[in-house]
Amino acid sequence: MTRLYNFCAGPAALPESVLEIARDELLNWHGAGLSLMEMSHRSPEVVGVAERAEADLRELLSVPDDYAVLFLQGGASTQFSAVPLNLLGDKKSADYVNTGQWSKKALAEAKRYAEVNVVASSEDTNFATIPPQEQWQLGSDPAYLHYTPNETIGGVEYFWTPEVSVPLVADMSSTILSRPIDVSAFGVIYAGAQKNIGPAGLTLVIVRRDLLGRASELCPAMLNWQIAADNDSMYNTPPTYSLYLAGLVFEWLKKQGGLTAMEALNRRKAEKLYKAIDDSSFYSNPVELASRSLMNVPFTLADDSLDKAFLAESEAAGLLNLKGHRSVGGMRASLYNAVTEEAVDALIAFMQDFERRNG
Ligand code: PMP
Repeated sequence: MTRLYNFCAGPAALPESVLEIARDELLNWHGAGLSLMEMSHRSPEVVGVAERAEADLRELLSVPDDYAVLFLQGGASTQFSAVPLNLLGDKKSADYVNTGQWSKKALAEAKRYAEVNVVASSEDTNFATIPPQEQWQLGSDPAYLHYTPNETIGGVEYFWTPEVSVPLVADMSSTILSRPIDVSAFGVIYAGAQKNIGPAGLTLVIVRRDLLGRASELCPAMLNWQIAADNDSMYNTPPTYSLYLAGLVFEWLKKQGGLTAMEALNRRKAEKLYKAIDDSSFYSNPVELASRSLMNVPFTLADDSLDKAFLAESEAAGLLNLKGHRSVGGMRASLYNAVTEEAVDALIAFMQDFERRNG
């Protein structure tokens, strides 16, 4: 059976070798006579899998010891509420940068609990830019500053880290593990798993330990990071099978040479695709040059009446999930870690052929 090229924004492509291991271990995990997904989350087997996954993730991201690593549920969207519920403490307000649809969702949710100060917005450019920090209007006494280092829909990525005196909170759903980061610059990092971590159902939170213990009285136990940390992310039944697959992805990443090697590959993939777009007058990408995402590449066709044909023919050619988000239009290719350079080459060859036939 041929596996097709998958450019989905999430749930996204997984490394083929990870899926092969999961297949081989599906019915009888390491000779246990059971599938891992049938085992108690308190069993030494599952606890061992969780501990290895955490240790490998800590190694990949060089997570300092004074940070807790939590494996939760509910997706990144649940953290839109968990962030203010855990971090406001006795403060009333929080700062948010609005650079796209995911920033907007995060700040809309925070408004239930906090006075939200939008320090800057790029909505007037249809989210094709990132307002430089010199232009940000920081609040007077915010509990934290929240931003979205990679906007999955707009394809806009920060290649710099904001410098603020309050805890920096980052929704890294669509950039985590794509390149090295300095975890110590952040108060909290969170991410839904279904792009670079593993299958949907798992949510990662990395939180500096001194920020634990400030949760509001009303914070549900399931959203309380302190409770999760105190219970090694097993306050209730965690998504054990997703965690196992994430652990296999972390092992795969280590074998690829870690995040420095992933960054080199991801840059090569993205640069090729942006070059193909820029070299043609048939395709274009709306994002300012300095903020073009390595992971999500939106592009439009000069004549949008060809969109339908492009999508039908690309799918027939084995290039899946290229339809762009309705707010941007056109196409979007997501180039997460498990999307191979071969897949990007196949996409570019298809785009050039389509242009020759229709341009
Ligand atoms: N933030 C970003 C940047 C995302 O890309 C997504 C999902 N595409 C979300 C949040 C929402 O994630 P989830 O579906 O895990 O709640």
